[in-house]
Amino acid sequence: MRVTAFTGGAFVQNGYVVACTGSGATVVVDPGAESARMVGALKADRAEVAAVYLTHAHLDHVEGLHRVHAAYPDAPIWLHPDDQPLWEAMPQQAAMFGIPFHEQPEPTHAFEHGQDVEFGQCVFHVRKAPGHAPGHVVLVSRDDPLALVGDVIFQRGIGRTDLPGGDLATLMRSIREEILTLPDETVLYNGHGPPTTVGEERMGNPFLIPQVGGRRV
Ligand SMILES: [Zn+2]
Ligand SMILES: [Zn+2]
Repeated sequence: MRVTAFTGGAFVQNGYVVACTGSGATVVVDPGAESARMVGALKADRAEVAAVYLTHAHLDHVEGLHRVHAAYPDAPIWLHPDDQPLWEAMPQQAAMFGIPFHEQPEPTHAFEHGQDVEFGQCVFHVRKAPGHAPGHVVLVSRDDPLALVGDVIFQRGIGRTDLPGGDLATLMRSIREEILTLPDETVLYNGHGPPTTVGEERMGNPFLIPQVGGRRV
């Protein structure tokens, strides 16, 4: 898999284009403020978008969805159903963050914990990781040591848990069970900031230091 970030907007959000090397199949993950540039790059590559995956329904991760949908109307849109309430509260999210609200196309497919989603010859394993958002999922590549983790964990940080549906204890459990169980070399592409690895965060993330090895010490 080849992962390209498109970063911008008020929240400096990372949207991603993931290409399945060899097969040419491509997916879009979390189309945010930079989705126009994303679509431009996809068109320049003559890429076909097989699907749009939403890690969660916070506005900064979906605000550019309409542009991707306009360019690739047949691409299914995936979201975990537990984030449907957040999805429906998008106008309130926009008001809360002072971002103009734009009507978005509805999700067409429901993520489930433990399922595999395929594009070309590439496969993501879906792990539900609530705490930052109730229906947050992380996408773990079955082909390469990498995962797209949205706002669950950042370089030396974790997702905020003060937004509606957030819960710190739930987030910490998700990090222990769904992130720290991955091999140390796994590269974590997240929603904000540079990529990191499981090993770097296991040892150096100040929120996880009491949990080295995935267990509280
Ligand atoms: Zn978020
Ligand atoms: Zn975010």
